[in-house]
Amino acid sequence: MVDHIVEEKRPPQTEYIGLKRELISWAPIIDRDKCDVSSCGGFCVGYCPFGVFEVSPDGSKAEVRNPNNCNVGDEACKWRCPRGAISFPPRDRLRAQLKSLRKANVKDRGDDGT
Ligand code: SF4
Repeated sequence: MVDHIVEEKRPPQTEYIGLKRELISWAPIIDRDKCDVSSCGGFCVGYCPFGVFEVSPDGSKAEVRNPNNCNVGDEACKWRCPRGAISFPPRDRLRAQLKSLRKANVKDRGDDGT
């Protein structure tokens, strides 16, 4: 039996540490071989407060429809998927990406970012 926690819907981030959210590549990845909506009722769709997931048109799989709505660095849904079907990019890749975006941001502003 899946624990059907339904989070209150919230607006997604528009910025993260001073960077526009849409510049940051961070979103869940669904393993379609493991995902099975019939076994969980589409748990992640109801659980995600930012509307990242939707059920596929045939009702069998979850799909990532709004990747940029995902809260940067948040992997809460991964731990709750009963089939272990959700993963995220490695955190060191996220850190490297943020570092490089912040560097570019500082350069664009022409200051030291303070
Ligand atoms: S990704 Fe996991 S929680 Fe979401 S529908 Fe598939 S099996 Fe269920």
